[in-house]
Amino acid sequence: MKFNVLTLFPEMIETYCDFSIIKRAIENNIIEVKTINPRDYTHDKHKRVDDTPYGGGAGMVLKPEPYIEAYESIKQKVNSITVMMSPQGSPLNEKLTQDLAKYDEITILCGHYEGFDERIRDIIKPLEISIGDFVLTGGELPALCVIDSVSRKLEGTLGKLESAQTDSFSNGFLSYPQYTKPREYRGLRVPEVLLNGNHKEIEQYRKEESLKRTIARRPDLLK
Ligand code: SAM
Repeated sequence: MKFNVLTLFPEMIETYCDFSIIKRAIENNIIEVKTINPRDYTHDKHKRVDDTPYGGGAGMVLKPEPYIEAYESIKQKVNSITVMMSPQGSPLNEKLTQDLAKYDEITILCGHYEGFDERIRDIIKPLEISIGDFVLTGGELPALCVIDSVSRKLEGTLGKLESAQTDSFSNGFLSYPQYTKPREYRGLRVPEVLLNGNHKEIEQYRKEESLKRTIARRPDLLK
């Protein structure tokens, strides 16, 4: 899976990808993350990527030329998709990450400042994705959410495939509570059922806890 990230701040993407599971996935050639900076596709001496909005108002709008030229410089594979990080997009959720994981290449457009000149949308026609009903300063964190959540779906990214299979949302429910050593901490004991080695009972306990949690915290998921 190749990710192309169009961003004015490539270091933000590169730094995150230099740690932990995502770093290992890159080293093991499961994913590749390439950054493209639209500023490198400007033609004026000030390397201008934004300008004031027509009609007035606060903030700066991302100019179409550098973004479109940067985008067109990418030779995308046949099975590819382009997404734009945007608070106006479809919510990023488990189903969407599964759908995205079926592509061989994902190109991600990160906005900044007041966002994109509308013609970038009109010309590229990306799938717009939001990571929630709030507004961030830029699309880099949302892009990393896409890279990370989609990479976890690819075989080989996680040490054990089971670790994704028991995660929240993977079977429609929230995950059950987890414990590790010590058996007792500040008077709080690990539930006895997890210590008795009876796998059937453990499975039953986890199913029940998972269901209880989902009912209490996210009853909407049960629909
Ligand atoms: N003016 C835009 C609006 O109201 O829809 C918001 C622009 S925001 C300050 C700058 C950039 O951050 C956006 O172009 C987008 O790439 C990114 N961004 C901000 N919030 C986001 C969210 N919730 N989900 C995805 N991307 C987001």
